[in-house]
Amino acid sequence: MSENTPITVAYGDGIGPEIMQATLDIIQAAGAKLDIEVIEIGEKVYGRGIAEGIEPSAWTSLLRTKVFLKAPITTPQGGGFKSLNVATRKTLGLYANIRPCVSYAPYIQTKHPVMDVVIMRENEEDLYAGIEYRQTDQVMQGLKLISSPGSEKIIRYAFEYAKANGRKKVTCFMKDNIMKFTDGLFHKIFDQVGEEYPDIEKESWIVDIGAAKLATSPESFDVVVMENLYGDILSDVTAQMTGSVGLAGSANIGDKCAMFEAIHGSAPRRAGQNAANPSGLLLGAVLMLAHINQSEVATKVHNAWLKTLEDGVNTYDIFREGVSKEKVGTKEFAQAVIARLGQKPTTLKPVEYHDFEVKMQPHYDYRTIKKAKKDLVGVDVFLHWTEGTAEELGNKLKNIAVDGLKLTAITNRGVKVYPGGMKETFCVDHWRCRFQVDSGTTTHEKLIAQLDKFRAEGYDFIKTENLYTFDGENGFTA
Ligand code: NAD
Repeated sequence: MSENTPITVAYGDGIGPEIMQATLDIIQAAGAKLDIEVIEIGEKVYGRGIAEGIEPSAWTSLLRTKVFLKAPITTPQGGGFKSLNVATRKTLGLYANIRPCVSYAPYIQTKHPVMDVVIMRENEEDLYAGIEYRQTDQVMQGLKLISSPGSEKIIRYAFEYAKANGRKKVTCFMKDNIMKFTDGLFHKIFDQVGEEYPDIEKESWIVDIGAAKLATSPESFDVVVMENLYGDILSDVTAQMTGSVGLAGSANIGDKCAMFEAIHGSAPRRAGQNAANPSGLLLGAVLMLAHINQSEVATKVHNAWLKTLEDGVNTYDIFREGVSKEKVGTKEFAQAVIARLGQKPTTLKPVEYHDFEVKMQPHYDYRTIKKAKKDLVGVDVFLHWTEGTAEELGNKLKNIAVDGLKLTAITNRGVKVYPGGMKETFCVDHWRCRFQVDSGTTTHEKLIAQLDKFRAEGYDFIKTENLYTFDGENGFTA
């Protein structure tokens, strides 16, 4: 049997084929043991009318090798096309997006010469579930979904990554002062999982001030874990802070599969000129080598690349008069890295990778977790309504409450407007009307009867949200 690791490779569009060839040349010269299967993705596949830009047959290769090294593709303009990245992430269950952001001063100009941060972004949940609705003339809704297993997976991955890579600290960014349930859950799980890693320093920041701190003193951060949206934004900010987004690679990791890539796009205007910098994809491939337990090769490639940077051998995008020594093309850059395999940088810090495979051993198994006692205690009925003031609406609705339920509040965009609202509050056409039990619990039949009252009175109810308690604790915000 071959001791090579099978991987799936896609050459992509634009500069993709050139930087992929350079990357494969370097890692193979360094001794990577790979069986490469090539699949086609991107422009040509979209052109054949396949909405996701990937042939159904390509999934067979991905599901067999479970490791995907992907060059950038050109995303077609216009409707009807789906994002290949989203399709890959969702189909392969890639829940963790890892983006190391490192400064290479003085060789790459940056305002932050001391910076070595790894952004860990949750990749499947949050507002990116894509569950969105238009509910009224004036209001659109997007659902933010945060689950305990989803949070635990990324947070545990962040701690395991820190442990395996000699990182000292894991920081959590969230906004649980406002989003008490969703971000509150993420924070709570961070604290719980963190207890299992006594040797790693832990800290949490509200994302706004945390981001400000990250942007001004990145040297005080190490591994930073966060939900999808915060991570999407801050991983780009952090990569840009190193001086060049063009140098960053990223890994998308799932329980069974993983995908590795550069973070930049296909730079179509540079295609076919032997000009593009292969460094981002190369560093993506280095993450892949560590992932498939070829960390010695990963270390060798990364150090040779750092030495090449130090020696001032640069592609056009990072070439600087007076600092750089030699301007080279894609192929020549690859040759320069190959020539330095086995060498280490002298000014920049050398790297060392360790074989690393996260074995998910959940702190609690969410499938067998003890179910809470869940009681139905009311319902929020959302209305599309424009016929008057909050006071008028409240006075009408309090009379249509069914036996056992009582109108306790009306809010508009989360602000309580009845009872006791202020006439200054600006209201849109989207009202949340809360009906709760006085005591005890209620039933689905009661809620249906309540909705039927709304129907009979001609109200346009656009959504309902049941109110539950879990072991006596409210499962809804006040
Ligand atoms: P881009 O990253 O391709 O290019 C931005 C700028 O950076 C351009 O000036 C480009 O010449 C330069 N650049 C990028 N990578 C470089 C490299 N390796 N070496 C030298 N210079 C480099 O972003 P864009 O122009 O906004 O997008 C181009 C296409 O790529 C679009 O179709 C976009 O949708 C797609 N894209 C794909 C991915 C992906 O596949 N993961 C990611 C981002 C963008």
